[in-house]
Amino acid sequence: MKSVFILTALMAGTFFMAGAQDKAKPEDTETWEPVPKVVTPGNTFRDAPSDAIVLFNGKNLDEWVQNSDGSPAKWDVKDDILTVNKQYGNIETKRKFTNYQLHLEWRVPANISGTGQARGNSGVFLASIGKGDAGYELQVLDSYNNKTYVNGMAGSLYKQAIPLANPGRKPGEWQTYDVIWNAPVYNADGTLKSPAHATVFFNGVLVENNFELKGPTQYIGKPEYNKPHGAAPVKLQAHGDKSEPLSFRNIWIREL
Ligand code: MG
Repeated sequence: MKSVFILTALMAGTFFMAGAQDKAKPEDTETWEPVPKVVTPGNTFRDAPSDAIVLFNGKNLDEWVQNSDGSPAKWDVKDDILTVNKQYGNIETKRKFTNYQLHLEWRVPANISGTGQARGNSGVFLASIGKGDAGYELQVLDSYNNKTYVNGMAGSLYKQAIPLANPGRKPGEWQTYDVIWNAPVYNADGTLKSPAHATVFFNGVLVENNFELKGPTQYIGKPEYNKPHGAAPVKLQAHGDKSEPLSFRNIWIREL
């Protein structure tokens, strides 16, 4: 009788542990405070310097492919603007980069609908390390009077780094990101030698100050460096939410 009781207790314990693991949820890694202070930005639009690689000059997507299969990028180019085409998924650069300075401009449409993460969601994967959303995401989102978890707002390194301020402009206005990316370095045996670091200016305001990333972005669970990689494309996100698609322009990069 006693052994039956012990066996039952062991089984219950196993069941409980499995149940706890199954319950890992996206909400577990959301942080809602502190809310970054709102800052009104100045003018931050800038042309590419002479040694930059222009990734999008308003004319074509020659530097881009579909992330899913490497075919020519199918997002929409019109009037010098690149607009996300959600039916085709993420696009990424043909070229691969290690350490770089990146400038890009993005705009949430003036008629944006939705709330929270479903309101003008896109993203810049600072290194694309696989299909879909594999990589290190700098969040793009309407963050003008749009409440969400602060480690998921514009200027956040998604679910890792809360922006130091919120200089977001209104939907319909162009915004800028200037990023300094230092890729992770791995030892010959695949172990991590040094983690990735990102510095981000959002509309000219420092929002990430040489932040040390804990690994590639994870929607659920904790990030870790478990997949060594070398130079990688920069990827733009076609997010699955139902809100109106974002646009990009003036994208350039300088390798360091
Ligand atoms: Mg996103």
